Amino acid sequence: MEKFRYKKSLGQNFLKDENILKRIKDSVLVKENDLVIEIGPGSGALTKYLKEYKADLKCFEIDERVKPYLDKLKDDKTEIIYQDFLQVNIKDYIDKDYANIYVIANLPYYITTPIIKRIIDSGIKIKQMVLMVQEEVADRFTALPGNKSYGSITVYLNYYFKVQKLFRVSRSFFEPVPNVDSAVISLEALDTPYDIKDPAKFFKLVNDAFRLKRKTLKNNLKDYDFEKVLAVLMEHNLGVNTRAEELSIDIFIEIANRIF
Ligand code: SAM
Repeated sequence: MEKFRYKKSLGQNFLKDENILKRIKDSVLVKENDLVIEIGPGSGALTKYLKEYKADLKCFEIDERVKPYLDKLKDDKTEIIYQDFLQVNIKDYIDKDYANIYVIANLPYYITTPIIKRIIDSGIKIKQMVLMVQEEVADRFTALPGNKSYGSITVYLNYYFKVQKLFRVSRSFFEPVPNVDSAVISLEALDTPYDIKDPAKFFKLVNDAFRLKRKTLKNNLKDYDFEKVLAVLMEHNLGVNTRAEELSIDIFIEIANRIF
């Protein structure tokens, strides 16, 4: 990779530590009849390890300049797709009935949330995602109610997944060295999805509840039947001045099912 010119605009910070790469691979129990999707394989540092599962592996990379490194990893189970992941229809690439589908990636940080949303919106049944993200983002995704990082994205992800921070990764393990530290997170599909009448309305309610930081629910939910919201809050010993960041996903679900 001596002559490779990293593109900051594509989030190109390549992971250089073999122990961390191996640790990411060992975080997931993939079997041969599963599918692994990798987004942003870069020069293939993680891809090499993902191939050890001997499962089907489909890697989406936007930058064709890595072809000389990445094409060497192609074989009958490993496909490299040179496309912008945000532009592809993922379903078009899933041609078999896989036992389980995993997403494992060191993500380009500038599009972390759009990538995750795109995967969720694709409707593909993902068993687990193990992702390297910016540490601050990992903290936001895994925050508990009451924590300053807790927000609508936390609730959104917790609706689908058990979200956990697996381990921290210092910036010094990347080339070029970014100006943030990282963390590897796991998002594991919930066995029993939440029982909600209308998920789209639920997500709108959550977004509205967090709309203005430091404002109470009463302020942010002016367009809703607040009497019903308050009734749920009171059942949880919460008062009229409660803010969205104090509510667990279970309470949000209860509110949604009460008002819709
Ligand atoms: N997996 C490699 C590693 O761990 O060293 C590289 C990770 S690097 C943080 C992110 C990679 O995502 C880069 O190779 C970059 O070119 C690629 N990338 C950026 N935007 C992308 C997009 N929209 N679709 C697919 N790949 C993208």
